[in-house]
Amino acid sequence: MYEMNSDFFDGFAAMFSEDEVIINEEHFLLGSFAVMALNLDRGILREIERQVPVLEEAMIVFLSARDAVSAAEAQEVLNELWDCLMHLPVYHLFVEPDMSHHHLLQYLREHPEETDDMVTSGTKRHHAYSQWIEKLERFTMAIETFIRNTDFFVEEYLESSIARTPDAYAAAFGRYQCDARMAFEIELEEKEETGSIEPVEHVEIEFPTKVSFVSVQNGNKIVLAEKMVFDELSSFLYTDLYRGMAAGHISRRCDNCGRYFLLSSGYDIRYCMSIAPGETSRTCRQVGAHRKEKEKIGSDFVRREYAKYYNRLKQRKNRGRLSVDEWNRLIGLAQNIRDAALRGEMDVEELGRRLGGI
Ligand SMILES: [Zn+2]
Repeated sequence: MYEMNSDFFDGFAAMFSEDEVIINEEHFLLGSFAVMALNLDRGILREIERQVPVLEEAMIVFLSARDAVSAAEAQEVLNELWDCLMHLPVYHLFVEPDMSHHHLLQYLREHPEETDDMVTSGTKRHHAYSQWIEKLERFTMAIETFIRNTDFFVEEYLESSIARTPDAYAAAFGRYQCDARMAFEIELEEKEETGSIEPVEHVEIEFPTKVSFVSVQNGNKIVLAEKMVFDELSSFLYTDLYRGMAAGHISRRCDNCGRYFLLSSGYDIRYCMSIAPGETSRTCRQVGAHRKEKEKIGSDFVRREYAKYYNRLKQRKNRGRLSVDEWNRLIGLAQNIRDAALRGEMDVEELGRRLGGI
């Protein structure tokens, strides 16, 4: 977050547990922010792109004039830019109650020695200010690169009929990296042959973070989480995306509305839970289930799920953790669910949920 504090501008911290990311004390399933970024209204990025050079110009004018007029102008541009940033994933969690950024220019006028520092090469404040401007300059490009690379990866490597498991996602990621490396080398060779000066895009991702460990509350237990401080939003988005994948959560495009949603279960769900376009209350999942009414879930799939459940239960019984009565009762319940699924009375997700809930 381009947060204003006594050191002017700061990074933001996120905590990662096994399947969650915690920011500003709010808990989200890992991978949720990557989905938000993929669904981002690009108009906001265009607007930020337009405002950054305007802010830079206004700051230059203010830092040399330091009068009330130039301060008011720079403040106005800064406020507009801030409003746009507040629409972005993560930053929307940091809305400052006191809107302290609204007073930055006033603060700079009231503290001329700090402002002098800002314009003096070699000082800490000058460095922080230059870095902030540089970050803003490459900000939209970094987010767009994230969206483009991720969209490509999801569509090309995760949409095919791979299993919905962390192992399968890891293997898909390996293929993606290997292909990207090859494409990079081929492009590099071509570039040398043709003498082109176009930069070659490299998808390998590296970024600096500060890591520490903390205990956090996760539901009703306390877990050890990794606390990471990110300098840039894009670095956080990659971390959320890939940690999410390791936990079995991926971004997926809804077959009905085309927007991304988080697929966090092992089931091959194709529709999101948002209200479907043109509907007032039905979700894409309901619309999709209705549309696919005739294509009931395959009986093979139902039988496989039932067999998995049966074997798990049998193991528990063999280890003496289940009485014969309990075993009979649970198998009876599972059989009822299986039969209902075979009659087409539930979708894939409901089958998983009901078998898991017995
Ligand atoms: Zn949808």
